Amino acid sequence: MKIGFDLDKVFINTPPFVPNILIEKLYKKRANGTLLYRIPGKPEQLVRKVSHMSILRPAMKKNLDALKKISKQDNQLYLISSRFNFLKKHTSDLIKKYDLDKVFDEMYFNLENIQPHIFKNAIIKKLDLDAYVDDDLSLIKYASIHNPKTKFFHLKNKGEFQSLSKNVFAISTLSEMLKHIGEKFKN
Ligand SMILES: [Mg+2]
Repeated sequence: MKIGFDLDKVFINTPPFVPNILIEKLYKKRANGTLLYRIPGKPEQLVRKVSHMSILRPAMKKNLDALKKISKQDNQLYLISSRFNFLKKHTSDLIKKYDLDKVFDEMYFNLENIQPHIFKNAIIKKLDLDAYVDDDLSLIKYASIHNPKTKFFHLKNKGEFQSLSKNVFAISTLSEMLKHIGEKFKN
């Protein structure tokens, strides 16, 4: 099975004590109801670089452990992160720190600063994924329409399993996703 994963808020948490609503505000703007993400200007890029230092980005251990238990024999695992190019160095530091390059078969990064939903949608389509996990519901909604055969999982890290549409499901843990697509953990 081909499974894709987002990075932030799936395996790497946002800095503690920063409210989610603020992060959401900083990252997204709405243009006539269409999804649009902000690419920050230079001064804000500096602030974001600091906030992306790995010391302020704790690993989400439960999810990392679950990932490492997914059988590599039967599955291909892909990391798809839409982090913008100015975070390239910080991102590769994180990847090394948590050995993610050893877990994933391939990793895709948004080095050309494409709008996140457009970038991820294109990769999901190209890889023809069976399943994709992300914490960003508006992005999932967009990609789920363009990839009707892919199952999308909105990782909320809380609450109960819920079917949101034909191919979108809310989950609180990665193991719920595996159970749903019929995969087992290796012991
Ligand atoms: Mg994310």
